[in-house]
Amino acid sequence: MLRIHEVSKSYGGVRALSGVSLAVDPGEVVGLLGPNGAGKSTLIDAVAGAIDIDHGSVTFDGGDVTGVPAWERARRGVGRTFQRIRLVPTLSVFDNVAMPRPGRARDLGRVRAVLDEYGLTRWAQVMARDLPAGVQRLVEVARVLVSDPKLVLLDEPLAGLGEHEIELFETALHRMRSPLRSIVLVDHNAPFVLSVVTRACLMVQGELLLDGTRDEVRNSE
Ligand code: ADP
Ligand code: ADP
Repeated sequence: MLRIHEVSKSYGGVRALSGVSLAVDPGEVVGLLGPNGAGKSTLIDAVAGAIDIDHGSVTFDGGDVTGVPAWERARRGVGRTFQRIRLVPTLSVFDNVAMPRPGRARDLGRVRAVLDEYGLTRWAQVMARDLPAGVQRLVEVARVLVSDPKLVLLDEPLAGLGEHEIELFETALHRMRSPLRSIVLVDHNAPFVLSVVTRACLMVQGELLLDGTRDEVRNSE
């Protein structure tokens, strides 16, 4: 599904990624752990096409997408959430979730189905700015899932969530798992990440130090 091959990226003198290789198969939920500045967000950006990489290649769904713009990768099935919530504050939950497919009347049923799946139906007409933080995060996730992406990249989805909200997110994560879908989860909350993933990677200073089962990564921490 996803093949990251020897990817490097520098920002000025800072080497954010140093020859990182990683392969993710359908059905896998891969956790990316590591301290601040390790290069996790840069790796997500490289896969989503949000940045140009200096070296290496990214293959998605059988095709080389290195250099392919982000919108085209999204069209081919790369979905992502951002660390900072990007909902339109003055639009309803429904309209925010419907946004990736504006004007496509036939897709409104799909929007309803996704809202229902993520327990958001009762919030559908509420403006995004009036939602609790955890619900905003769920709406972000729903907005990505409405396009039924093959690959879902989640960048620090737990940032700012309370305990109950983390439970809601865990349920959402469970629902988005599929044998046909790959999920990459970046978060600082290592206990949570290790409890939900099938595989975990540890990044430090732009390098992928460890790629193994969650027990292997847990024991190395
Ligand atoms: P993480 O997500 O693991 O916290 P990042 O990928 O955000 O790490 O950052 C990796 C390194 O690259 C850090 O040293 C960070 O400061 C630097 N960096 C990331 N984005 C930029 C940018 N747009 N401009 C300059 N430096 C950046
Ligand atoms: P993360 O922990 O996910 O890397 P940050 O808050 O560090 O999040 O970064 C948020 C945004 O700022 C990202 O788009 C990242 O690329 C950018 N960024 C990070 N470090 C730097 C830096 N040293 N200079 C410029 N931009 C940066």
